[in-house]
Amino acid sequence: MSQQSTLKMMLPFYKKWMHRFPDLSSLAKAQEEEVLQLWQGLGYYSRARNVLKAAKEFVTYKNFPSNVEKLLLIKGIGPYTASAIASIAFDQAVIPVDGNVIRVLSRLFLIPNALNDRSDLKKIQEKALELAQYVPAGQRGAMAQALMDLGATVCRPGALAQCAGCPLRKLCETYKLEISSGCSKVAAIPQKKERQGLQKITRLLLLYRNKAGCLLIRKRPSGLPLEGQWELPSLDLVSSDDWVRECLGGAFEVKRGFRHTIMNSAYSVWLVEAGKFAGALKGHVFYSKDPQTPLTLTTMTQKALFVLEKNL
Ligand code: SF4
Repeated sequence: MSQQSTLKMMLPFYKKWMHRFPDLSSLAKAQEEEVLQLWQGLGYYSRARNVLKAAKEFVTYKNFPSNVEKLLLIKGIGPYTASAIASIAFDQAVIPVDGNVIRVLSRLFLIPNALNDRSDLKKIQEKALELAQYVPAGQRGAMAQALMDLGATVCRPGALAQCAGCPLRKLCETYKLEISSGCSKVAAIPQKKERQGLQKITRLLLLYRNKAGCLLIRKRPSGLPLEGQWELPSLDLVSSDDWVRECLGGAFEVKRGFRHTIMNSAYSVWLVEAGKFAGALKGHVFYSKDPQTPLTLTTMTQKALFVLEKNL
């Protein structure tokens, strides 16, 4: 869950999940529908499906797999999760390489392009493994978490890095170069990920309400991605954000929008109060916060409801 979102955002989901599935066997017995419903709002539903598949597999084992090689054989567990489980739960000499760790090690060893260049990423992974060999038994999980936390709180992206208070500054190659050259170096490492072919789309989410103020949502038809999930009706525009503000703002109440990226599409999403709507359309319902039958909403619609609820 924490790979899907910030910790602050995901904690309520996590608490609800752990309340319903306090252990692997309770999760392994669950129906996929219920698992997806509890995951609703986190996105990437394939991860929830894989968590369920993994739980079903784990309960058949006599012992929980404790090393990276065995963990990698489980559906849905990739190198990062396998290293995280092996180091944090089983004190194995590995370090999970997430975005925060990539940033710390890129700067520490002056390896600039791990986000775009496989050979630089490989160097980072090798450095992580090498570092893990020096950590005494009993402290490997703590070391893995310390590196992740350092990246999240001190060695932050771009100009937010706080080198003056960093415990690694005397060892850090990039920081030393910055000091000796007098030029900014830390902020530019790791070099930004080149996102090729990102399609920019302006999307209007139409807020039709019934008398009770409930919003109209529709089921995504079969054959489309996210088939069967529920979403606010929408219109895509071939235009810029400025156009939305200037032109639509006069005719409708355009609320604040948000950014949303799915695969290769970067959306500028605008929430538009489209008026009252009384009729019942086929495949549409008015969304109730506590429905008798829970509906799986798309992540974009979840975000929109969150923005509306919190008045962001
Ligand atoms: S000294 Fe700066 S760049 Fe180096 S690890 Fe610490 S925070 Fe990151």
